[in-house]
Amino acid sequence: MQQSKSSLQLLTSFVLVYMVLAFAWWAVQLWRENDRFFEVSSQLLETRYGGPKRGVNLTELLATAEYQALVQRRQKHRRMILAEGIFFTLCLGFGLYVINRSAKRELALARQHRNFMLSITHELKSPLAAIRLTLETLHKRELQREQLEKLCANGLRDAARLQTLVEDLLLAARLEDNWRPVLEPIDVRSIAQDCMANLLVRFPAANITLAIPADLPPAQADKPGLTAVIQNLLENAVKYAPEGAAIQCAVEQTNGILRLRVADQGFGIPDAEKTAIFEKFYRIGNEDTRRTTGTGLGLYIVKQIVQAHGGMITVTDNKPKGTVFVVEM
Ligand code: ADP
Repeated sequence: MQQSKSSLQLLTSFVLVYMVLAFAWWAVQLWRENDRFFEVSSQLLETRYGGPKRGVNLTELLATAEYQALVQRRQKHRRMILAEGIFFTLCLGFGLYVINRSAKRELALARQHRNFMLSITHELKSPLAAIRLTLETLHKRELQREQLEKLCANGLRDAARLQTLVEDLLLAARLEDNWRPVLEPIDVRSIAQDCMANLLVRFPAANITLAIPADLPPAQADKPGLTAVIQNLLENAVKYAPEGAAIQCAVEQTNGILRLRVADQGFGIPDAEKTAIFEKFYRIGNEDTRRTTGTGLGLYIVKQIVQAHGGMITVTDNKPKGTVFVVEM
């Protein structure tokens, strides 16, 4: 992919340099032709007026209307050559810029789709294999109560992972289909507590602190939508940080605006990636080397839901390390 990108840049630069040189060559040729035409025409004029019958001297010749018309014609053609040369070069540059930009976008999209296929295959394969193993063990072996419970808990966790994945895919598809939030009064505190409880099942070492006032007034929002927002932000804070790193989730409401802040002490997000992470299927790094599970849909879903509520999401660095996501809606 990187190779196609550099070949594209090379080709664009080559075409641009070639066309600019070609334009410059034609402009010089036209310029010379214009000057030659002027010289020949003024010589003809000189012969005509300077003949024995007329006897007009050079100063008088330069003042004649015909000579002045020739000078003006030469100037006009020079201006035309210059203006058209500049105009064509600008058009060419702009055209190449547009082509280059859309080709780059296509390449990025192709890379994201490839990453998505790789990650989704992995995301489906691992829990399915684990569930199958669990069922085979249950089928073939006599187990004690304690072992049975452990195995069932693992199986349920894998099934929940599959369910979340399918729900994310469905939600992403629905969001593209002009999704509108169904607003209702919501207890954000209890939603956040549920999300945290769900996460603790999958990540028992997660160290999440909720800072939500008990008297927080109900927020007007879409319940499944807001749940997906909190769930995804908390899950990312857990996934992209060392095990047990502190995560803080704070919610407040001022002047009717709900403000949700999720801060982690994780690996952080480079400034250059802070916009791209909200794109569909975008994941930082390369799928071949990446360890953390995911599909690149989480933040895309979050942003779409927040925007559908007329809100906004921002991402900044945490101090001394990590990331802070703030949602206002
Ligand atoms: P997924 O987690 O499935 O990869 P997301 O859309 O939720 O997809 O996130 C996109 C990318 O943004 C992730 O792959 C990860 O690299 C980065 N990211 C998201 N949240 C965080 C975070 N809290 N800390 C560090 N990186 C993050």
